[in-house]
Amino acid sequence: MHISKSFIPILKNNPSEAKIKSHQLMLRVGMIKQSSAGIYSWLPLGFKVMKKIEQIVREEQNKIGAQEILMPTIQSSEIWKESGRYDDYGEEMLRINDRQNREMLYGPTNEELVTDIFRSSIKSYKSLPQLLYHIQWKFRDEVRPRFGIMRCREFYMKDAYSFDVSDEEAVFSYNKFFLSYLKTFKRLELTAIPMAADTGPIGGNLSHEFIILADTGESKIFTDKRIFDLNSDGSIIEKNSLENLRKKFEQYYSVTDEKFKKEEFEKEVSVENRLITKGIEVGHIFYFGDKYSKPLNASVDLPEGKKDFVKMGSYGIGVSRLVGAIIEAKYDDKEEIMKWPFAIAPFELAILPMINKNDNSTLEKANKIFEFFNVNGIDAIIDDMDENLSSKIKKFNLIGVPFQIIIGKKSDGDLLEFKEIGKDPQNLTLDQILKILIKQKEKN
Ligand code: ATP
Ligand code: MG
Repeated sequence: MHISKSFIPILKNNPSEAKIKSHQLMLRVGMIKQSSAGIYSWLPLGFKVMKKIEQIVREEQNKIGAQEILMPTIQSSEIWKESGRYDDYGEEMLRINDRQNREMLYGPTNEELVTDIFRSSIKSYKSLPQLLYHIQWKFRDEVRPRFGIMRCREFYMKDAYSFDVSDEEAVFSYNKFFLSYLKTFKRLELTAIPMAADTGPIGGNLSHEFIILADTGESKIFTDKRIFDLNSDGSIIEKNSLENLRKKFEQYYSVTDEKFKKEEFEKEVSVENRLITKGIEVGHIFYFGDKYSKPLNASVDLPEGKKDFVKMGSYGIGVSRLVGAIIEAKYDDKEEIMKWPFAIAPFELAILPMINKNDNSTLEKANKIFEFFNVNGIDAIIDDMDENLSSKIKKFNLIGVPFQIIIGKKSDGDLLEFKEIGKDPQNLTLDQILKILIKQKEKN
């Protein structure tokens, strides 16, 4: 991509309406554009990052045996009346009447719809477990949409649903998602901590929110610091080891404010390990048994001949919110440097030539380098604008492409100035640079 032909509308200054760094940066480098309150268009740079995050989320769902489907955004009110949530959901639900005056709605979540899909086809315990997920736009008419795409009205979510024959099997499914969430956030280079959570209007009894620390987060958290040293490596998809994995995290007190009890916190966590701070909720998992299967009559034949309602859980990840959350975690707003994790960066390499009015040689050289990386499968962007080099470097520090090649005046011969954002430059050959980039690709 040549930046002169790209649709990357960069602003000179931080927009004043944005209060937090992710919102500022996303507007500043043209990742999104607001179209109305809490509703955004995704421009090429932002869209690319979101799609890459989506793909990582998808891969980790597939790894635990979840199957991808796609349910519509518009739902009929019928099934919501069956579950009893049509009235309960309140004003966050966007209600629409079609031309026949049928009551429709823009889905805020999909428990009812997926249960309806399930009950129409699955009749026997032999077909269980079923883990189904989709990645789709949701609409919630939030009272106070704010912070850009972090709390908006239309947002992109991965939501998964599990169906099992018994509580025990359902907890196994829950634990699979628990594992897949740890892995997903790790691949996104985020430290997301599972915290015991309230179950809210979705209901149920076992629930964790996955939260990343950020001063601008809306969740207040109370946690034992030692939970940050845990990791999920080596876990296999087997009942006991997954149960142990979850227990390993649960041994440390870690809750959001809805579940917080001062006495418990002070009893369970020694003073030096206490951490009270704020965070962003990037995922939420629930186990809620037959809360929906019962009213919607989703049951299966059991081995002993009887029938029972299936036991369900639901598992969300805020795919669009993650774009902002990753910026909150990675952007240094004092130095004005963003560095996207390589796996989700909008481009893998930026080529920044100094452009000389009377001499095309640096641009020509940059174009050749660009072609070289292009044919070798590296997604590069070249800044071919007639602008001084230091403003190009500043611009790309904001865009956050993790690697740069800088072609200045002195640049001749085989060695190039190559730089990982935030680190010192090195002089390397094209082949050496390619090797580094390919290694990064393979890491994921
Ligand atoms: P919150 O407490 O932030 O409102 P929630 O508990 O209502 O979230 P869920 O219903 O569990 O959220 O949705 C799953 C995920 O979708 C959340 O973890 C979050 O990452 C994302 N999400 C929820 N509401 C929004 C929103 N208004 N804008 C962007 N992302 C959202
Ligand atoms: Mg909410």
